[in-house]
Amino acid sequence: MRKQLIRKNLMLVIGTFLVFFLVALITIYFYWQEQSKTLVSYVLSEVEVEYEQFDGSLEDFILNFDTDTGRRITILDENGIVLIDSDDPRTGQDKSQRPEIKNLGSVATRTSETVGVELLYMATELDDGNILRVAIPLQAQAKLYSTILWIYIGITILLIGVYYAGLIRINQNLLAPWEKVKVGLQNLASGNYQMMALTSPYPEINELLNEMNQINLETDQHLRSIETYQIQLKEILNELKQAVMLFDEKEMLVYFNTDAASYFSLSDDAYDKPSYYMIRDIDLKQAIHDVNEDHQNRVFDFKHEGKLLEVKVFHVNAEGRNRSHATVLVLIKDVTHDRAIEQIKKDFFSHASHELKSPLTAIRGYAELIEHGLIKENEYQKIAHDIVLQSETMTALVEDMLMLSRLENLKESNETKVMLNQVLETVIHQLKPIIDSKNMKLSVKAQPIEALCDPVDMQKLFKNLIENAIKYSDAEKKIEINLSRTNDKVHFSVKDQGIGIAEEHQQRVFERFYRVDKGRLDGGTGLGLAIVKHISLKYHGSIDLKSSLSRGTTITVKLDL
Ligand code: ADP
Repeated sequence: MRKQLIRKNLMLVIGTFLVFFLVALITIYFYWQEQSKTLVSYVLSEVEVEYEQFDGSLEDFILNFDTDTGRRITILDENGIVLIDSDDPRTGQDKSQRPEIKNLGSVATRTSETVGVELLYMATELDDGNILRVAIPLQAQAKLYSTILWIYIGITILLIGVYYAGLIRINQNLLAPWEKVKVGLQNLASGNYQMMALTSPYPEINELLNEMNQINLETDQHLRSIETYQIQLKEILNELKQAVMLFDEKEMLVYFNTDAASYFSLSDDAYDKPSYYMIRDIDLKQAIHDVNEDHQNRVFDFKHEGKLLEVKVFHVNAEGRNRSHATVLVLIKDVTHDRAIEQIKKDFFSHASHELKSPLTAIRGYAELIEHGLIKENEYQKIAHDIVLQSETMTALVEDMLMLSRLENLKESNETKVMLNQVLETVIHQLKPIIDSKNMKLSVKAQPIEALCDPVDMQKLFKNLIENAIKYSDAEKKIEINLSRTNDKVHFSVKDQGIGIAEEHQQRVFERFYRVDKGRLDGGTGLGLAIVKHISLKYHGSIDLKSSLSRGTTITVKLDL
């Protein structure tokens, strides 16, 4: 820009000078011609006056003139025949056809054949009829003319030089702010806003720089807020725990978050690649295609690397990376755990209602029999006893369900310092009548252990395990109970010589309502071991089950107490 400005300015100035020069030359030329005419006519009239006053011969008249003045004087007769010439000794030549002779009083310019220099001629008729012609050399005029020309050239070069120096200075002052603006914008683009100093000698430029500073500051603030917004949005999208992907109308990937990257092993190379390039699932690819076609949203589940994923494919109208136009939004959520919980809840309610229905049906049956007077007198006592048993089953079921719900919520915990061996003693005492009724041998080794816990939890845990050992063992068998502490862990184990649990059931007995023998009349609610598992989870513990059919079962619980 700088060079261009200087070049254009110089061209303008040189052009202007050339025009000026041309006009000046033409003016000088015409002026000089006028001057020459005046001069030659002045010389002519001077010589004419002298001629008219001269008495001597033509030769004497000619000799009278100082030839050093450069003037040439010719006297011709009325027919243009040379009578005498100051520069030419010859006479008698016919010069009647010379322009100055043909047009007396006019000025003619030409190179003289006689003297060989360019001369200005003018002639006039004398009183005696002769013609007087005077010529002065043009050279002297040309010299003057060329001197003026050189003076002009010199002045022009000088002026152009001065102008050039001034131009460079002005240019510097004019262009320096632009350089500042350029640097300022470059800094802004790289995220470093810098104020430009107002040091130009021109107030208009300082005003402009001030405006630019204001614009740059606002742009910087906008850029920063956009950047912050983008970072926040990216964080939110990454923290969603959902895969987010955007595709354009050509099914090219235009955005993905970190979860999507981990599900489909995506790197930055995946951008602007078609969906089939990175998604192996046919249904998902088809859904992206279909949503692009019919703009109808779709929701479905699909299995991916052992996980159950819920996919939502929406039609959107959004801008993706690099201003690409996104038309399909894909949200993918890992619902493996959620669906499992949902299933557990469904199973729980269906089991619970089923378990509660059986005793209720029995009670209702007895009630109907009584209502219709179908019960014999001696059967009343047995029926009443059955009703009590059924209601006890229901009560136990409801109690266990409440216990499980309490453990799941983990809110209602009443932790206090508890002597675990004392809790165990109480439980054994409560179960003593059943143990005695089956004539079982009980071996108890219990260390005095104090722990911070909810006594109800410990009571339930001990009771459920010992009760099972009694329930699933034949009469007269031995039960060994052990309570000890090692390395900050409380160990509690119950070993029986009962029926044992087959290998395939060993993991499942901790599920709610799971019973190995569903037809067993003395079976419990099916929630006992599920409660034990939840208590162990609450205290960050672990459960170990060792069992072999017909030989017995040992269940050991280690609690972080
Ligand atoms: P239940 O109320 O039926 O005893 P639990 O959850 O306590 O329910 O036990 C689940 C199932 O595990 C029982 O139905 C039983 O089949 C089996 N089981 C539990 N403890 C023992 C044990 N000590 N010996 C043999 N089987 C057992």
